[in-house]
Amino acid sequence: MKKDLRPLGLYIHIPFCRCKCAYCDFYSLPGQDESRMDAYLDALTQHLREVAPRAAAYEVDTVYFGGGTPSIFGVERLKKLLKTVRKSYRLSKHAEVTLEANPESARDVKALKSLRRAGFNRISLGVQSMDDEMLRQLGRVHSAEDVRAAVQAIRKAGIQNLSLDLMYALPGQTIEHWQQTLVDTIALQPEHLSCYALKIEEGTPFAARQDSLDLADDDTQADMYLTAVKTLAQAGYAQYEISNFSREGFHSRHNAKYWQLQEYAGFGCGAHSDFGDVRYAYERDLESYLRGELRLSESNHIPARERTTEYLMLGLRTVRGISKGEFESISRFPFSCIEPVLLRCRDAGYAVEENGRWHLTPEGFLVSNAIIGEVTDAALSEQRRRADAIARGSFCPV
Ligand code: SF4
Repeated sequence: MKKDLRPLGLYIHIPFCRCKCAYCDFYSLPGQDESRMDAYLDALTQHLREVAPRAAAYEVDTVYFGGGTPSIFGVERLKKLLKTVRKSYRLSKHAEVTLEANPESARDVKALKSLRRAGFNRISLGVQSMDDEMLRQLGRVHSAEDVRAAVQAIRKAGIQNLSLDLMYALPGQTIEHWQQTLVDTIALQPEHLSCYALKIEEGTPFAARQDSLDLADDDTQADMYLTAVKTLAQAGYAQYEISNFSREGFHSRHNAKYWQLQEYAGFGCGAHSDFGDVRYAYERDLESYLRGELRLSESNHIPARERTTEYLMLGLRTVRGISKGEFESISRFPFSCIEPVLLRCRDAGYAVEENGRWHLTPEGFLVSNAIIGEVTDAALSEQRRRADAIARGSFCPV
């Protein structure tokens, strides 16, 4: 990266899907035709160009096409978008360029090769399960065989950075089923894996029939999670975040920006950004977006120094963890205000301190919400104590 330039990630949201999965609450629209996709390409292109002047002092080192299902947007449209990024932004030669894809729409070697030549160098494939019955229940339109065919095509096309997304705690899934999915997935030799527990989100078909779903209880879910951590570690995948595992050198550089409070700019309806001290998101509304109206659903100015809670919440999700120096420079509070909580967690086997950084253990990740709550409460109570002392005129920074 050139001196004086700051790193920036771009996120481009493609909201189209072939059909809606039973658990999905992402902004994704099934059954859209080619003309709508063309119109969306035009709107995205205009949006990318409009924001570009604000990014003049940045170098783009990651681009992430997420969805939805970006792989059904079509090779030519995807290439045009990346070309617009190249023309309008300073794109690093070594940028990580990720395309989310589903197995049924990522089996054409010629198309994948064309994407690779255009600059796409990482694919994140939505596998979810290697069990056809589980896939059917989830409302996925692919089979385990489609996954194998897609992985083969991606490799033939010369793409050497492949991530596979999996889900566990599925209705009726046993630990043995889950273990088998892990084994079948490891056999495909991806560089990266994400494992998420199924969450029943409001408004989804699964939520409507939640009572009739045979869902895993908390203990089984915890066992599935620890099974994943152990099985993947044995296969050479290091855990670097609660839900993410990779071979050395293949962690997701784009997702790391979210966890390390780095800047990213989002494009497309529903896309989120954290850019220039402002966190903002565009409305989940395709119609207004196609009319070129960039309506915001939220916008908050958050200077770096007001990001203590975010720093703790996001940092403690990762194996990189948090450090005294970073905490004190962001919060301006002494680390001693949160240290007692971390020491208690260490004694209980939930946290460790290594090379000056604190991070949670796999057992700690299982109860991370409670731990993060305690740590942030400790920081917030220090903040209140200081505010009270300032109000009384007795504050003395030590
Ligand atoms: S493919 Fe992904 S974005 Fe589309 S409906 Fe299924 S889960 Fe949602």
